[in-house]
Amino acid sequence: MQVDPQQAFEDILSSQKYSERLSLMAIKGLEAFTLDFEDVLAYDVELAHGLVENPDEFLRHASNAAMRRLSMVEAEYAAQVKGLTVRLSQLPEGTPIRDIGAKHVGKLVMVEGIVVRSTPVQPLVVVAAFRCRACTDVTRVPQEGEFLRQPYRCQNPDCGRTGPFDFVENESEYVDCQSLRIQELPEEIPPGQIPTSLDLRAVGSDLRGAARPGDHVRVVGIVRTSSTVMPKGGRPRTLKIHIDVNNIIPVSREPESLSISPEEEAKIKELAKDPCIHRKLVQSIAPSMYGNEHIREACMYLLFGGVPKRLPDINVRGDIHVLLVGDPSTFKSQLLRYVVSVAPRGVYTSGRGTTAAGLTASVMRTEREGVTLEAGAMVLADRGIVAIDEIDKMKPEDRVAIHTAMEQQVVPVAKGGIVATLNARTAVLAAANPQFGRYVEQRTVVENIDLPPTILSRFDLIFILRDVPDREADAKISRHVLSLHRTRGASAQPPIDQELLRKYVAYARNINPVLTPEAEERLHEFYLRMREASKDGSMAITLRQLESLIRIAEARARAALRAEVTAEDAEAAILIMQRSLQDVGIDTSTMRTDVDIIMTGKPKSVREALQVILDVILELQRETGVAEAVLVKSEAVRRGVPAEDVDRLIAQLKREGTIFEPRPGLLKKT
Ligand SMILES: [Zn+2]
Repeated sequence: MQVDPQQAFEDILSSQKYSERLSLMAIKGLEAFTLDFEDVLAYDVELAHGLVENPDEFLRHASNAAMRRLSMVEAEYAAQVKGLTVRLSQLPEGTPIRDIGAKHVGKLVMVEGIVVRSTPVQPLVVVAAFRCRACTDVTRVPQEGEFLRQPYRCQNPDCGRTGPFDFVENESEYVDCQSLRIQELPEEIPPGQIPTSLDLRAVGSDLRGAARPGDHVRVVGIVRTSSTVMPKGGRPRTLKIHIDVNNIIPVSREPESLSISPEEEAKIKELAKDPCIHRKLVQSIAPSMYGNEHIREACMYLLFGGVPKRLPDINVRGDIHVLLVGDPSTFKSQLLRYVVSVAPRGVYTSGRGTTAAGLTASVMRTEREGVTLEAGAMVLADRGIVAIDEIDKMKPEDRVAIHTAMEQQVVPVAKGGIVATLNARTAVLAAANPQFGRYVEQRTVVENIDLPPTILSRFDLIFILRDVPDREADAKISRHVLSLHRTRGASAQPPIDQELLRKYVAYARNINPVLTPEAEERLHEFYLRMREASKDGSMAITLRQLESLIRIAEARARAALRAEVTAEDAEAAILIMQRSLQDVGIDTSTMRTDVDIIMTGKPKSVREALQVILDVILELQRETGVAEAVLVKSEAVRRGVPAEDVDRLIAQLKREGTIFEPRPGLLKKT
């Protein structure tokens, strides 16, 4: 190096740009200042090298240089400022979190990831004041490291004792400090691996609130080791790594790591011209799984998503939520994993939760850091897709929070002194097992799944996967599986391979298609027709379904890279919605779609039938105190309850606790 580093930094900082930045510091009363790394690099490669290899020393030179410049530009302010922190803009190259190791200790690095947890801002002691118990003199000790360091001896020359001392809280000096943890971006985790995370310590009031869980950030900082305390003061030989933050740079949450080359863009546009593009896309989703085309079609809509709308009073989500309910033997989990793998950003989780944070977020108390806020799967999947297997097994806290997360797409947190709102703009692809182990045809969806109707009604599409023997279908599946084995998988070659599909989806999601008048007319007609069909009071279809239809139609237009939603898109949306309503909403006794099943858990005719039975029981027990089951059945059938349903409905009333059986053959209202 030609010149002294401090002089070099002063040269860099004497430019117009930095003089303005220093003046701005004075105006805003800041104590931190940003130096662009590329300016250092342009000035002297060796100086830049020094910053990376020996950041503590070189940042001190930079800080001294900045202070000198400040006293030239803003003398008055410089006199008031105690210290000046130089923060570096991003480095030319980042280091993957996974690669941070021993060789980086003491070096300057830049890592990129998603913040998964944070503590509230806590005061960190920088200078500790200790009062000598003997002479009451106060000794100040600058602090470094993990633990509070006491003075070696009392500063009073007449005393000079080595203790005991008392820590004096209000004479010590503090800075704001926040502990954070970042984790690799979901899209950068190697397949099948557990995400790697890294602890950060952010010091300085200007970094307050610079990042919250769910934020995607680049962090410039110095790699440090810290040891956990061992009993009897021993130090373990392996040290924990963390990063002392120099700067936090927010990154937009779009999964932009998917770079699409001009050739790929051409390929994508070419594919979109195919009139059968939707069919090709559906066939490219989980290609080795046979059948269930309508479910794969729903997954296609979920991948592309609709257009979110910001109305003055309310935000309408564009994300499409899909729920699959089915027997354990079916292909749900495999499909979930496949969809995550082709999503530009996808997170796979289980309702049982793979982390303590669960699906939404949680506030925890850890011994070392105190209260921490940790982001759950839906926050990590912000701007992407979350696949939740066994959603019916989710934790009680998640059952409460998931409503807001699915509809408003945020996770509000107010617990343990932490108040925050985390973004969860994500589409949910969920799977649930039937409550009784197998899907029971005679029961409604709500009876079959252990999920409240309020959560079910948040799904745009719900499908039931049944594993019933069907000779024709079984033959086809068997042939398909056998051919897969015979051709060693070649026959499962999808029309669009996984990597291109991922880029196709990412590319298409930038298009915001608009409804054409024709498409609007189709949806309008369908809505009115369905409302008409439910004049007698049971709600066949609600505005909620209309919004779902719009989203699905928009997703279909996106899938063809169209800026307009056509009548054909609207028709397709109607068809798949009808299929879903059929799957869940058919009231088997009247064969009419009845969304009340999703909203209240019972189809209207079932509710009516239950009421008839209950009336009969009440009338009969008015006379004798109890009702004979045989009489209840015959009277209920006489009043129009289908004979084949009576036993099941009585059983349901018993299960709900509305009636009980005081003695065999007798019924009574509770
Ligand atoms: Zn003393």
